[in-house]
Amino acid sequence: MIPVIIATAVAAAAYKAKPECSVCHSKITWNQPDMFSHQPVCGKCGIDVESVYYEGHLVLLAGRHIKTEKDKYDRRIEIEKRAIDKLLSDLEAAKSVKVWPETYQGKVPAPTLNKRIHTNWHRSKSAATDELAYLTAKNRCSHVQKAVYFSESQFEGNYEYTVWLAEGVI
Ligand SMILES: [Zn+2]
Repeated sequence: MIPVIIATAVAAAAYKAKPECSVCHSKITWNQPDMFSHQPVCGKCGIDVESVYYEGHLVLLAGRHIKTEKDKYDRRIEIEKRAIDKLLSDLEAAKSVKVWPETYQGKVPAPTLNKRIHTNWHRSKSAATDELAYLTAKNRCSHVQKAVYFSESQFEGNYEYTVWLAEGVI
């Protein structure tokens, strides 16, 4: 008898804690936050937004949105999708960007924009190179030269690690 009472109490507590759908107030359905208002919305009232993946990574915060707000959301999604398409094509173009280090002795083409760019700090040097190539592609350039790296020590408690930033001219 006692396990049954406990199980019922647990179920009741879980039910009480569960957010109700902001549209139909259902608690039975599996509610998820609405993509833009962040209110809980159920599978009955909300429809799923398309997920976009790039090499296994989700690049759009996909979720549900409320049917009655569909037009407004569709416009927002269209804008986001365009931004994502640009991001994906820049990431694709970054793969063929040529990165020449400052120490490179050979001949390189003149810079396209004569603009100095730099990345964020990264936990690995190769991640900094990847971002440098991505930023180059984002600026619609095919090569970056005079690439230099800066490193810094950072601490997480007693654990010391190195972070890297890359800089170059496009
Ligand atoms: Zn609902």
